[in-house]
Amino acid sequence: MRFHIITIFPDIFDSYLNESIIGRARRNKIIDIKFYNPRDFIKVPKNKNQNNYKPVDDRPYGGGPGMVMRAEPILKAVEAAVKKIKSKKVKIILFSPSGKKFNTMYAKKSAKKYSDIIMISGRYEGIDARVQKILKAEEISIGDYVLTGGELPAMALIDSISRQISGVLGKYESLEEERVSSSEMYTRPEILKYKKKNYKVPPVLLSGDHKKIEDWKKKI
Ligand code: SAH
Repeated sequence: MRFHIITIFPDIFDSYLNESIIGRARRNKIIDIKFYNPRDFIKVPKNKNQNNYKPVDDRPYGGGPGMVMRAEPILKAVEAAVKKIKSKKVKIILFSPSGKKFNTMYAKKSAKKYSDIIMISGRYEGIDARVQKILKAEEISIGDYVLTGGELPAMALIDSISRQISGVLGKYESLEEERVSSSEMYTRPEILKYKKKNYKVPPVLLSGDHKKIEDWKKKI
C-alpha cells in the first residue's frame, strides 16, 4: 500500500510514522508513504521586481474569518502524486470535519480495495471547495471535533489502514487480533498495590478456563 500525502507541513509526520509498528512496516516495504507539498508547486518569482509569487492561501470570497487554501497548488501536488501511480486502484480522500466518519470497517475495506491512497490535509479554514469537485475526492472526518489541520487525520488513517494489511502487525500481534479482544486488559502484577490499597486482576482471567474467559471478554 502506498500513501500519498498532500500537506504543507510534511515534517509533522516524521516522528510518529518512523516508530514502532508503522516504522517497521515502512522499513520492510509493506507500506510506503510519500509527501507532496503544495508550496513546491507555487511559481517562484523570476526576479525580485516581478511579483508573481502567490501564497498557498488567500482570503475567502464572500468574507469571513481566516484564510482558505488555494486550489491550484493542491491540484498540482495531486497531479504529481497521480503521475507516480501505475495502478487503477486509487482513492482520493480529502479531510474535513463535516465529512463521512472514518471507522475500522472503512479501514478494512480500504486495505483490501486500494493500492494507492491520496490524502489531502487541509489547514486554516479549509480548502477551496473546487478541489473536492474536480477530483471527486471523498470527504472524511475522524470525529466530531475541529482540529487545526488534516495531518493528524492522515496519520490516524495511515495507522488504522496499515494494521489491516497482512504482515504489518507481527505474528504475535495479529494472533491477538483474531481473538476476542476486550476493552479491559490486565498484565502483571496480579495484585497491584497503590496508596495502601490492593487492586486485583479479575479472578476469571486467572482461571485458565478459556470458554469462561471469552465469555467475560464479550460481556465487558
Ligand atoms: N472551517 C472549517 C474547519 C477547518 S479545520 C469548518 O468550520 O468546518 C482545518 C482543516 O483541518 C480541514 O481542512 C481538515 O483538513 C482538517 N480537519 C479538522 N478537523 C478535522 C476532523 N475532525 N476530521 C478530519 N479533518 C479535520
